[in-house]
Amino acid sequence: MQSLPSTLIDRFQRRVDYVRLSVTDRCDFRCVYCMAEEMTFVPKAQVLTLEEHFQVAQAFTELGVRKIRLTGGEPLIRTDILTLVKRLGQLPTLDQLVLTTNGSQLQRMAGQLRDYGVKRINISLDSLQPRRFRQLTRHGNLDQVLAGIETAIAKGFERIKINAVVLKGRNEDEVLDLVDFACRRGIDIAFIEEMPLGHIVEHNRVLSFCSSQQLRDIIGKRYIMHALGEPEGNAGPARYYSLPGTTTRLGFISPHSENFCHLCNRVRVTAEGRLLLCLGNEHSVDLRGVLRAPGYSLASLKRTIVEAMAIKPERHHFDNAGEPQIVRFMNMTGG
Ligand code: SAM
Ligand code: SF4
Repeated sequence: MQSLPSTLIDRFQRRVDYVRLSVTDRCDFRCVYCMAEEMTFVPKAQVLTLEEHFQVAQAFTELGVRKIRLTGGEPLIRTDILTLVKRLGQLPTLDQLVLTTNGSQLQRMAGQLRDYGVKRINISLDSLQPRRFRQLTRHGNLDQVLAGIETAIAKGFERIKINAVVLKGRNEDEVLDLVDFACRRGIDIAFIEEMPLGHIVEHNRVLSFCSSQQLRDIIGKRYIMHALGEPEGNAGPARYYSLPGTTTRLGFISPHSENFCHLCNRVRVTAEGRLLLCLGNEHSVDLRGVLRAPGYSLASLKRTIVEAMAIKPERHHFDNAGEPQIVRFMNMTGG
């Protein structure tokens, strides 16, 4: 049998060294751009166990992956998630264990996350107005999230970043307030263009679409922005700026308006163990089947992952902001 490589390289000579693991498709919020109000979640038996998630993470790190992001759904509502975080934090070759969260559980969990080796946290925050925050998240409590952000700041993570999705007519008037907030608190902020993932009826994505350029124009009226060049480590979709006089880095994640596929160094694993080779395409490989096959071995899982690199697409085509070209919702995909 052929020996396994120590790094993952796809057909376009891109090195894959970053994996986003969706540890649950469930969430305590129902953000309007992410989920429908009534969601049907995957039956629990089909979701990977924490041990299976760990096996996946271990396989990837043995194949040269240096960065793992836990996401979801809401990763921090997965029962016993901290036991997985602790084990991942001990993987010897993992440089960066990071997390994307809606912040609702951070007040009680931030300390342990930090102790177990999570270095950076992204926290979603689309509004600083309590009623509007509730409308956008359908269930979220702004005070709870703000308190979670303060706890995280106090625990001394290497970096904390706010992620905001801006929708025209809903929260575009808060762009400057959100940047001001990030600067005041000494944390980073990135604005994400809404992506056409999953079918939503709540708003029309074409009408609500706000491009990164429109946001840069708004922010440029108050702040001087210095482009920071290619993201560190060739890392992907965000373009970052420094804001002189602050420690805040300002980012724009622009899947529509600025194609970043040539830099893509990442793959995603859904809560059900489907390895997604591209956020905007359906190309995928079933890892759960391998994990649950009789005679499972870590080597068989690693081989499946290596072989999957052959179907990583060159690029995505989010050409029409309105149509759900990809039927899965973001909570399935893992941000
Ligand atoms: N629940 C966590 C959270 O909200 O941070 C992690 C999962 S969430 C799916 C990850 C990120 O995806 C969030 O920052 C959210 O704003 C973003 N997101 C969700 N649906 C999106 C969409 N249709 N377009 C762009 N970003 C989206
Ligand atoms: Fe939940 Fe995050 Fe999706 Fe909002 S964006 S519904 S918090 S998974």
